[in-house]
Amino acid sequence: MKTYQGLAASGGIAIGPAYIYLPEVQCAQLPCGPVEPAAELARLERAIVEAQKQLAAIYEKSVAEVGEEAAAIFLAHQEFLSDPELLAEVKRQIQEQHAPAETAVETAFEIYAQQLEALEDAYYQERALDLRDVSRRLRRILAGVQDQETLTNLTSPVIIIARDLTPSDTAQMNKRMVLGFCTATGGLTSHTAIIARILGIPAVVGIGEDILNVQPGAPLIVDGHEGIVLENADEDTMTKYKKQRDAEAERQRKEKAAAHKPAATADGHRVEVVANIADAASAQIALDFGAEGVGLFRTEYLFLNRQSVPTEEEQYRDYRAVADVLGNRPLIIRTLDIGGDKQLPYLNIGQEANPFLGWRAIRLCLDNPHIFEPQLRAILRASVERNVQIMFPMIATLEEVQRAKEVLARVQAQLAQEGVPFDPHTQIGIMVEVPSAALIADILAPEVDFFSIGTNDLIQYTMACDRVNEKVAYLYDPLHPAVLRLIQHVIQAAHRVGKWVGMCGEMAGDLEAIPILLGLGLDEFSMNAPTIPAAKSLIASLTLPQAQEIAQTALSKRTAEEVRDYLRSLGLAQQ
Ligand code: PEP
Ligand code: MG
Repeated sequence: MKTYQGLAASGGIAIGPAYIYLPEVQCAQLPCGPVEPAAELARLERAIVEAQKQLAAIYEKSVAEVGEEAAAIFLAHQEFLSDPELLAEVKRQIQEQHAPAETAVETAFEIYAQQLEALEDAYYQERALDLRDVSRRLRRILAGVQDQETLTNLTSPVIIIARDLTPSDTAQMNKRMVLGFCTATGGLTSHTAIIARILGIPAVVGIGEDILNVQPGAPLIVDGHEGIVLENADEDTMTKYKKQRDAEAERQRKEKAAAHKPAATADGHRVEVVANIADAASAQIALDFGAEGVGLFRTEYLFLNRQSVPTEEEQYRDYRAVADVLGNRPLIIRTLDIGGDKQLPYLNIGQEANPFLGWRAIRLCLDNPHIFEPQLRAILRASVERNVQIMFPMIATLEEVQRAKEVLARVQAQLAQEGVPFDPHTQIGIMVEVPSAALIADILAPEVDFFSIGTNDLIQYTMACDRVNEKVAYLYDPLHPAVLRLIQHVIQAAHRVGKWVGMCGEMAGDLEAIPILLGLGLDEFSMNAPTIPAAKSLIASLTLPQAQEIAQTALSKRTAEEVRDYLRSLGLAQQ
């Protein structure tokens, strides 16, 4: 038996034969001798048109399978194909180097991919992978090779082993035949990891090149909880893992069957379990998982991968489509949260030394009424006979809340004057994700109807650690006492004036954190849809006094590890 250690990217146990996927572009028949640049440029143009067509079709297929947010990567791929700098480099290779189109594409895309890789940031590493994915697609078309079909044509269940899987690979694979993923490279935010979590497929990533030496067909066990892969396991180990896999499947079946009941503790304390979404397709998926509504609609995805700000009408159509999926269930629409790691080239935000501390979210919206006001109009128009609520991101001061509310009041007055219908009782909330807002929660609470704690940012700002920098990931811990104390303070301050508190950061769906949050009095838990059944089941297994005791004890600990040890002693954290 051989054991490989990697990163635990998507939970669950998979058992099955290895399928080694190492696609190489077959461009063997490159033209010999000097090429005719004009002919090569014409071939290139035709290949680009064909690639755009393929990508548009893959985008449509992916929207249906994994939702618009994850599928948007193919819009980005299409954009590469019209990037003026990149194309100029390809053409330069043809015209000046007299390279065949295949070589020109490979060289030019590789130059850009390596520049991105040199930035040593997980985000740019992923973009380098995307560039190579598009390069491969173009070169296949140029060489007249069919798109790689081996993953589409899988006929029996397998565990896929690859160096890394590109978006094109995962989009075209026959997902019913994929039991698990193991990749040599990639981190927890890699495309493979994200898709595996969306599809609920166990995955271990970043294992190292060694994994590529596994024998095709060798029996494998993928433990997506612990991040390990076992090759040729002995019989006892195999039996143990089969039992675990079957028990998990049975538990998930039961949890899913119970997920459509309202969330409540064993003694009847009601909370709301809702979903984070980015479009109408993911809203429908969320309802299927038992979401009682939406606690965070990230509207920035409507603004990404385009050339200009979406119009009020376009936004209205998107917001209304989501509202219609939800009917009268709550739908919290967050106003534009751009900046930080989410850039819109057409807004000219400019280079910032510290983008996460820069001109983003509400700061940018308050300075750009021509973006903010149409969005508010579109949201308000979508609220008619629906339970739409508005949430402002990245609030740091009282003045920001007041200014945002003033803009909203102005927009409401305009709509009323124009005779355009909207719900005048729309609830207004803010995200508490900046430590200053958490600390003045008592001052902010009277201004709003609700808070939603954004732990993804609150943790990074509290711990002073970039949320996407793997090197400081050890600091990024939701169970750190500083984070727990801030959350307690926010909930208490809001409850004192009768306001409810939700959470839409990843922590709300963290099964280790849920008992503590419940005990601290959190009213609403907003999470990625697939976690909802397990979260509801966990909440139903506890009484409120039990959760309160857990929260109080957790708050008496000095470190995140002490909190985790305590949860482990109760069987509430991974051993
Ligand atoms: C958060 O910061 O917790 C949050 C939900 O917002 P985002 O992850 O979109 O920054
Ligand atoms: Mg945030």
